[in-house]
This record gives sequence, structure tokens and C-alpha cells, in this order.
Amino acid sequence: MMTGIWEQFAGNLAFVSLAISIWAHLSIWFQRQIVGFEKIMFGIMAGVASIGSMLLAVQFSHGTFVDLRFAPLALSGMFGGPIAAVITASLTVAFRISIGGAGMTDGVLVTIAAAGMGIVANFLIRKKAPVFSHIALLAAAIGCLLIASMGLLPALSKVQALSAVGLPMTATNCVATIVGGLILLKTQRLELERRILETAFSQSPDYLYVKDRDSRFITVNENMIRLYRFESTTEMLGLSDFNLLPRPLAEELYHREQEVMRTGLPLIDCAEYIEGRNLLASKVPLRDRDGRVIGLAGVTRDITERTALERELRQSKNLLSHAMAGMPDGFAMFDSEGILLFCNEQYRDAFPLSADARVIGAHISDILRRVAETRERLDISYDSMEDWIKAASGTLHENKNEEIQLQNGDWRSIKTRRAADGTAMVVVSDITTMKQAEIALRLSAEQMKNLAETDGLTGIVNRRAFDDAFLREAARSARNKTPLSLLMIDIDRFKAFNDTYGHPAGDRCLRLVSECLHRSVKRPADIVARYGGEEFVVLLPETDENGAAIVAEGFASHLREENIVHSQSEFGRVTASIGISSATGRVLREEPNSLVSMADAALYEAKAQGRNRILARSPAAGLNFVRDAAGAN
Ligand code: GH3
Ligand code: MG
Ligand code: MG
Repeated sequence: MMTGIWEQFAGNLAFVSLAISIWAHLSIWFQRQIVGFEKIMFGIMAGVASIGSMLLAVQFSHGTFVDLRFAPLALSGMFGGPIAAVITASLTVAFRISIGGAGMTDGVLVTIAAAGMGIVANFLIRKKAPVFSHIALLAAAIGCLLIASMGLLPALSKVQALSAVGLPMTATNCVATIVGGLILLKTQRLELERRILETAFSQSPDYLYVKDRDSRFITVNENMIRLYRFESTTEMLGLSDFNLLPRPLAEELYHREQEVMRTGLPLIDCAEYIEGRNLLASKVPLRDRDGRVIGLAGVTRDITERTALERELRQSKNLLSHAMAGMPDGFAMFDSEGILLFCNEQYRDAFPLSADARVIGAHISDILRRVAETRERLDISYDSMEDWIKAASGTLHENKNEEIQLQNGDWRSIKTRRAADGTAMVVVSDITTMKQAEIALRLSAEQMKNLAETDGLTGIVNRRAFDDAFLREAARSARNKTPLSLLMIDIDRFKAFNDTYGHPAGDRCLRLVSECLHRSVKRPADIVARYGGEEFVVLLPETDENGAAIVAEGFASHLREENIVHSQSEFGRVTASIGISSATGRVLREEPNSLVSMADAALYEAKAQGRNRILARSPAAGLNFVRDAAGAN
């Protein structure tokens, strides 16, 4: 009997391993079919293995069984947890009690202890995935339990010959635990991998499917089910595109797939347009172990939204560049660092000399350097070039309107606006025509003003301009408390001159007289004006009576030197009478016009006294000196 023990244990081990193997395979099926019951089923299966082991037990003596029930017991606890362990242990204990015998109590105790060890092992590896070392430790623990039970429990230790079967029993239980554990471990790992793959497959945001050689669905993911409005995968199995899509489209897809399977060449990112959706389909042939194509795996990505967005972006980009290309102005955009992000052709054309520097990606300082090097702008002093480049670059992002003139005389308006994101937008317009018109207008306005203020015949200031100047100077002199003098000049016997020599000769004479007056005044502030007809006035700021008399005498002497023959004059030549008046302070402030009337009165006196003379009359002193200009001859 002793010699047969190893064989018997080997048979027992085979049975236990087989039972666990069957369970391992069934467990996958159970997990899919009746979720939640797998632990109970595990407990029952392990119980069956345990009972089977007892049925094949080596009956050592009456009522004492030596078998491999401890391996399924411990494994049930470790892999199935407390529920499975309790079920396995209950079945085992019930069966053991039904057999009865001397070793019953001890057998029941060891049975419970083995199941308990399994539960402890399950608890210890709860947080991590079990590995081989865990199984080896459990096997060792079972071995220790058996050795200990043989030494301690009375029913077992009583049997002398047990020592002969003790070693094989312990060893085979350990081996059975390891073998069964490895089978369960492997199954668990495969199951985990399968589940990861399944989750990845079913939850993918793309449309995934596997088809057979005839393009019928073998499996599809959740997205596919939703797309075709099915409830579950099984409803779609066996269907093909012909059941789901319009016939012409289904035929096209069928031929494409059959081509993939016939040639064995995968189809990657092929654009498809199905029921208003833009799709990107990839189809890869599936092969069996011998390399024969048995179907294909497909991935279809819905890029409708992306395509729509891209189209929109493209359109708005086109629209923008169209607008930019068509606008009359130059447009440029600089980022917050001063890099040129975008510009149209017109922007480059607006600055012909620095156009080649105005390229996308260029920095504003390099563009300005080219402007400086080519002296493109007229408004810049190029002496401190680097300073200007630095300053102009620094103000790029400030809101401003500039009008600049280029070397070729053209004008540009540069409007800069800073956007919220820190970029600077620049609009450049050609304002040459406008600017030229503006300049012409300003010039003609100046000319008009001159004309309005100038006497046409003599080219000197006219009466209107004199009146303005007189009021201005009178007020200023009053303010500054400086003397102001006025000379009033009337040509003597001029009517007779005209009558004798003709009007054109009279005009020439008037011009000569105005030249003489001009030569007589020295200061820039002095004003010589034609007062009307053959009367002239000279306004002399900061000049008193004496100064005015010197000017008057100077004029009389210049006129004498001209020696314009006048046969009808008692002097034989053209002479003039001059009235002088001077004033300061209060008079100028309160009654400035009295200066004019005094000069006029003095002139009248001069005429009355015989002409060709200078008379002064001031508001304060009345008539205070007389000079006979002729007498100075
Ligand atoms: P007097 O002043 O010495 O009393 O004699 P008068 O002959 O100069 O007298 P009056 O002042 O009355 O004459 C002014 C003349 O000056 C009248 C006009 O023929 C002449 N006259 C005025 N304006 C012009 C002008 O623009 N050109 C010419 N040729 N003669 C002018
Ligand atoms: Mg006169
Ligand atoms: Mg006169």
C-alpha cells in the first residue's frame, strides 16, 4: 500500500488541477454572463474539487483520510475571498462529516484552518495584484499547517504510520496549491488584459469594428452601436454595411474592404463621406496563425467638426487676406515684442526704399534702421541714427497719428493703434495729393494776405494794414511806456505834376517817393505805408520827436537827391510836406488816434506855411518845431 501512495497522490493532484483549470476557464464565461455570482460559483467549484479530492483520498486507516482538499480550500479563500472560502469550507466540512470516522473532528478543524489561511492571504494581497511569491507563501503556510496538525491533533498523531504518508501528503498539497495558484494567476492576468482591451475598444471615441472575410461585423464598439441606434453589440453581429447604409455606398465600402483583404494591404486614413459626416477610415487586415486574411479591423474617426472648423478658419483667412489685398491703404501688424506679424503689399509699396526690410518676422528696429540708412524719411535728423531707432521702436505700441514726408517728396499718414492683446496695428495711407493741396492752399492764403496788405503800385504796406499795425503799436508803446512817432507825408503840387507829365509819370514818381521813404527808415519795426493818393505815413516805434525829425529830414534829403523835375512847382522839382507827431503813455492808451490827427494837423500847417517843410505837433506840447526842408538845401 505504501508504494502506491505517490501514485495515488499524483492522481489526486491531477484531479484537483483539472478541477481548478476547468474553473479558471469557466470563470471568464461566468464573469460575462452572471455578474455578481462568480464568487459563489468559485466557492462551489472549489468545493467540488475538494470533495473530489476526498473521494479519491488515500484512506489511511478507518476514518482517517489523506487527500489534497487543502489546496482548493486555501486557493478559494485567496482568489475568491471570504464568500468563496466559506462556501468551499461548508461543502467540504459537510461532506467530511457525512463520511464520519475517527479523524473527523481533526479533519474538520484542519479544513477550516486551511480556508482561514486563504482568507488571510486574500486580505493581505487585497491592495495589489497577486504574484507567484504570494502563492508560494500560501503553499508554504499550508505545508506548515499540515505538519503542525500531524504533530498536535490527537487523531492524526495517534496513527504511527502517518509519518510514512505525512511527507507525500504535505508535499502534494503544497504542489497542488502552487499549480492551482499559477493556473488562477494566469487566468486572472489574461482576464485583466482582456478587460483593459475591451474597455479601450468599447469606450474609444472613434468607431471601431472587426469584420469577417465577407465584411460582416464580428464585433463593434459602443460608438458604432450608438451611431446605428442599436441597443447592444449582439444586435449588430452578422450585419454588414448593406443592412445599414444605402446600397451604392455599401457596395463601394464593400469593394474597398474586399480589396484590403484580397491584397493584404492596409488602408490608412481614407476620407469617407457618409450621411453628412466627414470620416477618416483606416482598415487593417486580420490574419490567422498561418497568415491567411480572415477579416479586418477598422477604425473610423469622425472629423466633421474639425473639418468644419478648418474650413471656417480657411474662409475667414481668405476673406481677411482678400480684404487686406484689396484695400487702398497699407496695413501691418506687429506683436508686443515688435516683430512684424503680417502686412499687405500696399504697406511695402508705401515705403519703397525700406520695402525689402518690411518682411514678416522682421523686427521694427531693423525696419527703422533701413529707413535711416536709406534716408527715406525727410522728417528725421540722421545725425543720431541709433537714438532715433531706439526711440521710434519704443513708441511703436503707442496710439498715434503721424504725417511724414518721404525723400521723393511723397507724404504718408501713419496711424498706429494698440490692440488689447498688445499688438500694434499700423495703417499707412498716401496723403501726397492732400498734403500738396494743403500746402498750396496755405501758400495762396499767405499770398492773399500779402496782397490785401500791400499797395499794388508801390509794393509797400497799404492803409488797411497800416491801421492794424498802428493800433497794435500804439497799445504796445502804451504798455511799455515808450514813445511812438508818426510821420505824415503829402507830395506837393502833385495834381499839377500829373497834369503836366501825365498819370504814368505820376505813378513813377509815387514809386520813387516810397523808395526814398524806405531808405530813410533803419529799424525793422519801422513801418512805411501808403496812406492814400499821394499821401504816405511812417510809423516809428520807440522813437521820439527828435528821432522822427531825423527820419523826416533824411527822407527830404533823399527826395532832393532824386531831383524829380516839376516845372509847375515853386521849387522846380518834386517836394513833400511832412507832419510829425509823437506821444507816450496815457495819450497812446486813451486816445491813440490823436497821434494821427496831430500829424495831419502838422501836415496841414506845413502846407499852409508854404510847403516843402517839416512840422511837428505833439498832443502834449502843441506845435513845437518847424523845419523848412527846403532850407536844409
Ligand atoms: P498840395 O498837396 O500841394 O496842396 O497839392 P496837390 O496837387 O498835391 O493837391 P491834392 O492833394 O489835392 O492832389 C492830389 C493829387 O494826387 C490828385 C491826383 O491827381 C493825384 N493822385 C492821387 N493818387 C494818385 C495816383 O495813384 N497816381 C497818380 N499819378 N496820381 C495820383
Ligand atoms: Mg499833395
Ligand atoms: Mg493830398
